[in-house]
Amino acid sequence: MIGPKFSVAAMLLSKIEATMKKVFMLALLALVTIPFANARQNAQPKAIVLTHVTVIDATGAPAKPDVTVVITGDRITELGPTSGVRIPKNAEVVDATGKFLIPGLWDMHVHVYDKPSLKLFIANGVTGIRIMWGFPAHFELRKEVQQGTLLAPRMIIASTIVDGPKPFWPGSIAVSNEAEGRQAVIKLKQDGYDFVKVYSLLPRASYFAIADEAKKQGIPIEGHVPYSVSAGAASDAGQKTIEHLTGILAASSAREEEYAKGLQEALLNLPPDQKFPSPARIRPLTRLMLENFSPEKANILFGRLKRNHTWQCPTLTVLRSTAFFNDPKFRNDPRLKYVSTEMRDAWDPTKDFRFKERTAEDFELSRQTYQKQFELVSMMHKAGVDLLAGTDTANPFCFPGFSLHDELALLVNAGLTPMAALQTATLNPARFLGKEKDLGTVEKNKIADLVLLDENPLEDIRNTTKIRSVVFNGRLLDRKALDQALAEIEAAAKK
Ligand SMILES: [Zn+2]
Repeated sequence: MIGPKFSVAAMLLSKIEATMKKVFMLALLALVTIPFANARQNAQPKAIVLTHVTVIDATGAPAKPDVTVVITGDRITELGPTSGVRIPKNAEVVDATGKFLIPGLWDMHVHVYDKPSLKLFIANGVTGIRIMWGFPAHFELRKEVQQGTLLAPRMIIASTIVDGPKPFWPGSIAVSNEAEGRQAVIKLKQDGYDFVKVYSLLPRASYFAIADEAKKQGIPIEGHVPYSVSAGAASDAGQKTIEHLTGILAASSAREEEYAKGLQEALLNLPPDQKFPSPARIRPLTRLMLENFSPEKANILFGRLKRNHTWQCPTLTVLRSTAFFNDPKFRNDPRLKYVSTEMRDAWDPTKDFRFKERTAEDFELSRQTYQKQFELVSMMHKAGVDLLAGTDTANPFCFPGFSLHDELALLVNAGLTPMAALQTATLNPARFLGKEKDLGTVEKNKIADLVLLDENPLEDIRNTTKIRSVVFNGRLLDRKALDQALAEIEAAAKK
């Protein structure tokens, strides 16, 4: 019954894959000169030793000064006061006096379409990513990382987007009913994806069937809260993450039902050529939602999210960039030099179908919404809701690698301590992934994904950008190697 629909989706997908493969190939050619791009690890790795370093282990403990860290292969094999740690023979010893060591960072919401982006993550100390729209090509990349032939972050790979009968993005799996929803989950689980990415236009019954089937199949569902479902109900259904605070503001409105009804009506009565209601249609609904914000209702919802262990990946970076997309000052980011011409072209508000029709009034309204979302993050943090740092990079002005540091600073602005913000990109992702034994903190026997900083990030979170070196896959990439990589990416982006 769902055969034809799947084959259409598959056709679209293979088209996208073909394009992606081309992009990957081009990127590969452009990058062969990057020194750390494809160097294989030595068979007999020599130890790397950082002496006299201040360790910020991200467990929440205070910074520990004058520590020596021994890294053998890809593990931390010794860690303790410098006076008490024996340095192995032939080790690569780095005097890290005055420097600060933190765990490698995770960006928990990214889109990756080329290899240079992957390099940008590493060059910015981002050693792990959660890819939010997975393609078979990502499995190949992950294999290369595991084999040590590609220096790119560790990857968690989402499924193809699963959306309603008329998906927002071409290439998504279109689901119209419960049977199709279950079938999609079974297929995606078989394909080996780490989780099912659910999206905004899923019909209510299909969504709950997906959630139920996912439980049976033992695969998490993560993504947007669909417009047809309230955030609390999605949390109760077991959705593991909510991205971009989708559904949160609506569910925190004293007039939630009215808002939801209005939105459903607008979605049901779309002109045939439109995927989404026009800004004019949405405007009064957004106002209704904002003007009837109920802190009481929000806090009840946050209690529910906490109880259900529903993780929030607010992606303040993309919420901000889409709200300020029409501001030329915002669009003049010096980091654009690392972004390919194609991507820069796509980051044009007049070309993006999502923003084309927006007026100054709409942008003003989206800034008010952003302000409110900022408050929500602060409230959620106080209420003990689990947070993950994510950027939605590849979206306009969300820069691979760089923007994770923006996100940390935004989270501190929203009221998190620098330690709590740091944990959203280190300890929390490890907990979320059930990998606390291996990742997330700087401790003995853990995997040595590490970032060495020139200044203390607990004093000012923006110090996470002052990267001296990155340790990943048993290798130390010093500032010179990182700068060289950045220069190569910049040169490649000009072509
Ligand atoms: Zn995304």
